[in-house]
Amino acid sequence: MSLVERDLKVIWHPYTQMQTAQPPVPIVRGEGACLYDEDGKKYIDAVSSWWVNIHGHAHPYIAKKVAEQLTKLEHVIFAGFTHPTAVELAERLLAILPDNQQKAFYSDNGSTATEVAIKMCLQYWNNQGNQRTKILAFKNAYHGDTFGAMAVSGRSAFTAPFDSLLFEVEFIDLPEENNIGSIKYLVSSIKNELACFIFEPLVQGASGMLMYEARYLNQLMAHCRKEGVLLIADEVFTGFGRTGKRFACDHITEQPDIMCFSKGLTGGTMALGLTTCTQAIFDAFLSDDKLKTLFHGHSFTANPVACSAALASMDLFLETETTANIQRITEAHSQFALKIKDHPKIKTVRQTGTIIAMEWETGNNTSYFNSLRDRLYHYFLDAGIILRPLGNIIYILPPYCITNADLNYIYSKIEQALKEI
Ligand SMILES: *Cc1c(COP(=O)(O)O)cnc(C)c1O
Repeated sequence: MSLVERDLKVIWHPYTQMQTAQPPVPIVRGEGACLYDEDGKKYIDAVSSWWVNIHGHAHPYIAKKVAEQLTKLEHVIFAGFTHPTAVELAERLLAILPDNQQKAFYSDNGSTATEVAIKMCLQYWNNQGNQRTKILAFKNAYHGDTFGAMAVSGRSAFTAPFDSLLFEVEFIDLPEENNIGSIKYLVSSIKNELACFIFEPLVQGASGMLMYEARYLNQLMAHCRKEGVLLIADEVFTGFGRTGKRFACDHITEQPDIMCFSKGLTGGTMALGLTTCTQAIFDAFLSDDKLKTLFHGHSFTANPVACSAALASMDLFLETETTANIQRITEAHSQFALKIKDHPKIKTVRQTGTIIAMEWETGNNTSYFNSLRDRLYHYFLDAGIILRPLGNIIYILPPYCITNADLNYIYSKIEQALKEI
């Protein structure tokens, strides 16, 4: 039996419509920005393997550090115990975050990083005998697939079966010149109920790479701060260079109270989640009273192997070559955007740093389930490019090590698709 046949017998894949699903692509090897299937066919990973990979696949330096760690300490309980890689990673990450970030809380993926952030905020108020329980979030937000993360995400086809069970959230539009005044007014009118505001800074990934301006986010954050609403920046996707700076929050002057990380944190090598916070949040849990404890811990919290991958990824991330690569991709994307922005089949092109998104003209049918998505997906897959359109939106966010040749090949195939599809 082939790998695919065996897969189809036993595996239930995420985000796969069961009845009409195409068989999965059997990937056996990765190198740089590329993946290779069983027959040796090369695929350029233009989506960084669901947005996690930043330095390329099977990176020898990360592999070496992980291998070293595996022979030293593979895992230890993190309640009541500690280990060097967790401490060093927290020290090094906090040192490059906004300077109000003082403590790091580990978990093991992006959804848990946001769950922890939400629980920190709700309990922050609860520990002080204050009944702020409502959460402010953006309409098209995506913060993960677990229940709390899903509750603060926009309501969609993905959440529909659970909508009646999700806790109450006040959803607002992305801020812009025309609505920033009314959003501020709304925040002020319910400020005594609002525990926190959770947001994806600058780019909303899952909703279709929607982008909004740093200055309006800055204004909204300043207003929330004034009204005592805690600020959670979910940088699970935007962190580690995606937006052109180290973190999306480096584009703004306001500082969030809490930040969430995962995806690029380990360079895309291991599952790890991290939630950082201010001293004030931490202090609200500092007590002799057991009930004030944040009772949240996963078996693999701060796994030493995952932390060693994150440390190795951090070494690579801080190299000048990586900064140059981020700059190179950003400039290449800008040029490509200029080239295709007036094409009749392109509704809009938008870009923030290494993320570029193109909205395909569809007439009236813009649903995620429209067939254009599948046609585009298979068109690029056949051409040896992994692009995973979100409905009619195509986006490129490659590992930073992608070669110019591979990047130009992706652009040229998009231009060809514009002629042929
Ligand atoms: C992917 C993502 C998450 C969830 O991360 P997982 O590791 O997939 O659970 C949360 N927030 C944002 C902004 C994301 O893009």
